[in-house]
Amino acid sequence: MMASGGSITSVTPSGTGAPTPASSNAGGTATRKLSGRYALNDFSIERTLGTGSFGRVHLVRSRHNLRFYAVKVLRKEQVVRMKQVEHTNSERAVLEVVRHPFLVNLWGTFADPTFLYMVMDFVPGGELFTLLRKSQRFPHPVAKFYAAEVALAIDYLHQNGFVYRDLKPENILLSADGHLKITDFGFAKYVPDVTWTLCGTPDYLAPEIVSSKGYNKSVDWWALGVLLFEMLAGHPPFFTEDGNPIKLYEKIIACKVRYPPYFEAAAKDLLKNLLTADLTKRFGNLHRGAQDIFGHMWFDEVDWDRLYRREIPAPYLPTVTADGDASQFERYPENDLAEYQMHEAPDVFGHLFPEF
Ligand code: AMP
Repeated sequence: MMASGGSITSVTPSGTGAPTPASSNAGGTATRKLSGRYALNDFSIERTLGTGSFGRVHLVRSRHNLRFYAVKVLRKEQVVRMKQVEHTNSERAVLEVVRHPFLVNLWGTFADPTFLYMVMDFVPGGELFTLLRKSQRFPHPVAKFYAAEVALAIDYLHQNGFVYRDLKPENILLSADGHLKITDFGFAKYVPDVTWTLCGTPDYLAPEIVSSKGYNKSVDWWALGVLLFEMLAGHPPFFTEDGNPIKLYEKIIACKVRYPPYFEAAAKDLLKNLLTADLTKRFGNLHRGAQDIFGHMWFDEVDWDRLYRREIPAPYLPTVTADGDASQFERYPENDLAEYQMHEAPDVFGHLFPEF
């Protein structure tokens, strides 16, 4: 079986407190004006936490308040080459306005001639992906807890006009207290009506994306179905042994799901209502919106208000021994940090990223 691959972007088959900079008025600005609030010198770079398609994420420590943050660094030229200018500006714009207990918080952004930087909460518990692969699959109550927190976050985004478009276990991080934080808003976008871009991650693409139809927020509810299935089964509902994406897309469009016998009947019922190609039937997309999901019998015992307030104890507490403990993250080869200090380099693409 193929593990879910990286995100795709085009039509191919394949915290706690602001990192107060000495030089600014940061801290509790009502307008959340985030650009140019910091510079790299406000931080010491500790190590790499992850790499995405267009950049890497570092664990950093504020030289001012000594707290740890995650800084996502994108090379402007690479963003342009991979036609991700709009997505990157959109990621920043979405993160600037969202605030939710289960979404990563953006503290600020800045740029130098070569790179764009986004300063976020450091979420120390590692990826849900890692926990899921280690556990093989989650017991129903565990999957229910995570699916419920994700559902609240997705509904919040939708209520604010945003579609997320890249839900998958790699983008869901665990806080020290075991609650979730969704990260990577690289495909998040304000979509009041319909959009057409083919982006996301193959295993998690909804049929309406695969078949190049216009689509909207319904794709996130489909992806919630894929995520819930994967948490319960240990593998996604649609996959091919050889990783051939064309075959994968055919399976997604055919939408035939084999439910393992150990799935609870109620879980299966919810999944059937999420993993349906028929948009007039998919939960989340009907006139009651997310209420069809929150009110589904499989979630009967969930107290959604307490869940939102993070009062429901998490099923798993990551081993995090100290502030800045990044042992839950895989090691990546480190890059040459000198490349972040090229202040005199020509800023060829800066005009494309005016908000950073
Ligand atoms: P991204 O490019 O946003 O997908 O990030 C790549 C990887 O970096 C993620 O899969 C995480 O492992 C890690 N990462 C991203 N954001 C954070 C964060 N705020 N805290 C800790 N790790 C992160």
